[in-house]
Amino acid sequence: MNVNKVFLWVASANFLFPAASMAQEAAKPEAGLSVHYEELTAPDFIQAVAKAEATCVIPVGILEKHGPHLPLGTDLIDCREVALRAAKQEYTIIYPAYYVGQIFEAKHQPGTIAYSTWMMLDLLQETCDELGRNGIKKIILLNGHGGNESFLRFFCQAQLASRKDYAVYLFDSVEDDSMEAALKKLRKTTLDGHAGEEETSAMLANRPDLAHVDRAGQESGEDQRRLANLKHAYTGIWWYASQPNHYRGDGSYGNKELGEMILKLEAGLLAEMIRSVKEDTVTLELQNQFFDGSERPLKTKQ
Ligand SMILES: [Zn+2]
Repeated sequence: MNVNKVFLWVASANFLFPAASMAQEAAKPEAGLSVHYEELTAPDFIQAVAKAEATCVIPVGILEKHGPHLPLGTDLIDCREVALRAAKQEYTIIYPAYYVGQIFEAKHQPGTIAYSTWMMLDLLQETCDELGRNGIKKIILLNGHGGNESFLRFFCQAQLASRKDYAVYLFDSVEDDSMEAALKKLRKTTLDGHAGEEETSAMLANRPDLAHVDRAGQESGEDQRRLANLKHAYTGIWWYASQPNHYRGDGSYGNKELGEMILKLEAGLLAEMIRSVKEDTVTLELQNQFFDGSERPLKTKQ
């Protein structure tokens, strides 16, 4: 990558589209452009990149058991729904189904697909490199699975390992008090977290055909607290110690109204994030500055 060329682009604040024809393409994006990456034709894709201001959202799910009553793809189905709703509010391109993440803790349950650590990192890195090569310079990771949290944060940190001409952002929503209060009013259970009241509700709102609430009582979602005596310690077995059934909470309390509110709130926060990422020029500028400095550390002013 030619650093000087990068700076020129930055200065013109229109650095994503070097060729004049791209600008002409950008000028007339079709109104009905799909948000689904895989539905775009090649010429559409050029327009979609322009309309999305070079942003793309990768909803990162997983394939794992969700109690006796919800589908293996619950996290994938939910986070894609949130992404699609947000893209309707703030246009961006939604990457196809992505379920390569961290799920070793469910390997004892049927249907789990647990890729190796290297595969997780390499596949996501190559996916981002290819998106970057295709003009997507602001890649948004939307995590749908709690077990991916540490992996995706590490992945974001690892972006500084070598120079990139694109930036990776992880959706990091913080519900504000009013949202939390609204959700609290509708919640009926206190223990939740996996295929419990919230996830069952979201599925009832999004794909009621996949929420078998009548089966929710077939297994316990109680916390087994088998490591309760361990003090100030984190171990990889913690989830299995608490929720060996891969179920936390009680899905029989799921309701469509709560689900609708959860999806609406998350989509609103994500749309807000996409908007701010589109306006953001600082991240890429700082990244370039950092990469320059990391190639000549002795020149870094002390
Ligand atoms: Zn889940």
